[in-house]
Amino acid sequence: MTSWTGLVVIALLVFATMELVAWAAHKYIMHGFGWGWHKSHHEPHEGLFEKNDLYAVVFSILAIGLFILGNAGYPIAGAVAAGMTLYGFFYFVVHDGLVHQRWPFRHIPHKGYVKRLVQAHRMHHAVEGREGCVSFGFLYAPPVDKLSEELRAAGTVKAEQAARRAAGGARPRS
Ligand SMILES: [Zn+2]
Ligand SMILES: [Zn+2]
Repeated sequence: MTSWTGLVVIALLVFATMELVAWAAHKYIMHGFGWGWHKSHHEPHEGLFEKNDLYAVVFSILAIGLFILGNAGYPIAGAVAAGMTLYGFFYFVVHDGLVHQRWPFRHIPHKGYVKRLVQAHRMHHAVEGREGCVSFGFLYAPPVDKLSEELRAAGTVKAEQAARRAAGGARPRS
C-alpha cells in the first residue's frame, strides 16, 4: 500500500474520517471537558483570534509531526498528514470563511449544499451555552429542516432567551 495510488487512497480515507473525528471532538470534547477553549467561539468577541483557535493549532502540530514522520521514511504517516491537512483547508474555508467571515471579503452561498452547510452551522450557534446544541459536523450536515426540528425539541434557544430576560433584558446576540 505504499504505491502512489495507495497513498492517495489513504489520504482520501483520512479526509473522510476526519469529518467523523471532528464531529466527535466537537460534540464530546469541545462541548465536554474542552469547553474552556471552545466557549470563546460561542461568545461575541473582539480581535482576530479566539481561544478556540488552539484546537486548530493542536491539529496542525499533529499533522506537522506526521509529515516529519512521512519524510523520515514512513510514507503512510505522510498520507495521513496530507488527508488531515486537506480537511483542515476545507474546514477553514467553510467554517472560518463562509460561516464566520474571518476573511476580508464577503461571500454568502445562496444555493445548494454549501448553503445548507452554512445554515447548519449557524444553527449550531443559535445556542450560546454548552448544552442542547445541534449540528456538530462541519463538512456534512443533515437537512436544515431536520436540524431546526431537533433544535426546537431541545428547547435550548427558548430557555436561553428566558434566562436572558430574567437576567435583566440583555440584548440577544444577532
Ligand atoms: Zn460548538
Ligand atoms: Zn462556528
